[in-house]
Amino acid sequence: EIDVPESHPRYESLLTRHRIEDGVETGITSKQGLIAQGRGEAFDYLLGERTTDTAAAAERAAAAHLLQADHAVLSINGNVAALVPGEMVTLAEATGADLEVNLFNRTAARMERIADHLREHGAEDVLGLTADGRIPGLDHERAKVDADGIGDADVVLVPLEDGDRAEALADMGKTELVVDLNPLSRSAQTAAVPIVDNIIRAVPAMTEHARELAGDEAAQREAIESFDAAEALSAAERAIRDGEL
Ligand code: ATP
Ligand code: MG
Repeated sequence: EIDVPESHPRYESLLTRHRIEDGVETGITSKQGLIAQGRGEAFDYLLGERTTDTAAAAERAAAAHLLQADHAVLSINGNVAALVPGEMVTLAEATGADLEVNLFNRTAARMERIADHLREHGAEDVLGLTADGRIPGLDHERAKVDADGIGDADVVLVPLEDGDRAEALADMGKTELVVDLNPLSRSAQTAAVPIVDNIIRAVPAMTEHARELAGDEAAQREAIESFDAAEALSAAERAIRDGEL
């Protein structure tokens, strides 16, 4: 399906683009998703297309939150489904979290396609199709969630989430973990744990941390307590402006 030599210096970035293109062609990703991807790539380029030390600490803290949660939910949109479907299923398994399809531009067809796509990648239960819960403060379509999914969750991982919804979810008192390459984005700014890293790298990293932290309460608490969201956002900005780690 794709023909990029692995030796190409921008191999990963080109592979990522192809996955999003495929996602649009198969009705998983919206056209808006292409624009979001372009934005993300620009920030990734400025960050040196690597996981900074601060992003690694955020990934560790996020993994600890997922393990400590009473009910953790991983939110899946069209870009996430195109880029890391199997990786999200694996993270859910490693942390005991649920998976919920949650779209900014919600259509029944795209909801179904994404749920099927996740099942093809090994997901057993996929939430989001019931839509019997609402996020207060958002208009009707954008507010829809599952009452026993995101509606009930104490910890939510919302990668590449729209700023308004990220704010509304945080206002509900949920511990919000956000993956977003733009540290200035409102989504990153409202997160308890902003993970400024490419989702392609962030999700497998969280799974690794979760496996390492599993069963070690003290290490989980330490990962959470030593993480400072405001400092992480400043560090990401410095990395972009000055090429600092
Ligand atoms: P707002 O200011 O309301 O937060 P926005 O500028 O973030 O809006 P969107 O296009 O809705 O606009 O958000 C997409 C976000 O997702 C961008 O911040 C972009 O950097 C980020 N993003 C896109 N692709 C990836 C990716 N592969 N990994 C991580 N983040 C990504
Ligand atoms: Mg944003």
